[in-house]
Amino acid sequence: MRLVLFGPPGCGKGTQAQFLGGEFNIPHLSTGDMLREAVAMGTEIGLRAKDLMEAGALVPDEVVVGIISERLDRDDCVNGFILDGFPRTVAQADALDNLLTDKGLKLDRVIEIQVSDELLIQRISGRFSCLDCGFGYHDRFKQPEREGVCDICGANRFTRRKDDNEATIRERFNTYNAQTTPLLPYYRSKDLLAPVDGMPGIEEVTAEIRGILNIS
Ligand code: AMP
Repeated sequence: MRLVLFGPPGCGKGTQAQFLGGEFNIPHLSTGDMLREAVAMGTEIGLRAKDLMEAGALVPDEVVVGIISERLDRDDCVNGFILDGFPRTVAQADALDNLLTDKGLKLDRVIEIQVSDELLIQRISGRFSCLDCGFGYHDRFKQPEREGVCDICGANRFTRRKDDNEATIRERFNTYNAQTTPLLPYYRSKDLLAPVDGMPGIEEVTAEIRGILNIS
């Protein structure tokens, strides 16, 4: 299964990708996570990406295409993958198409998670994740079962993203509307786009995605 999860910041792509990755036993590939790791490690890519990410702007296409190209060559992608946050421009989508065509592969589905602007802000402003395993939580919608302890790995250290502040969130929305929404007609014309209502709770959205992918 080769999937793209598509939608604005805060729509729930990462949360749904966690479930889908487990379901199909395929990796969840988030360019945002990969870039944050590069920033934390102070690599050359990280140094190039840091200021752009903090400003809510996009990292250059050739940087993210290079990262994804390398990642898709790894063994764990043979049965498929879930892309989260990539592609984000038409140039990236064309590059992905070329990468897959070279391998004799194609995408199965692009799932678009639709959420209102107000809910996006609420979701982004309350989110945090486990510092050790990266599992995602939310102040209002999804607290760990035991306060201060990660449900998945038992760690007790959590982190909040630096770009989850009001000014940067606004800029990330502008960037999404200007540079990423042109991908909707792009994938619609290829008959790959499947819209999902992302407004209900996590389980309901998961159920809708299961229906689209024919998971019983
Ligand atoms: P995300 O975690 O997907 O919200 O991404 C966080 C930030 O990383 C974005 O605001 C961009 O600055 C950068 N980023 C992630 N994915 C891409 C991409 N495909 N193209 C360009 N920039 C990206």
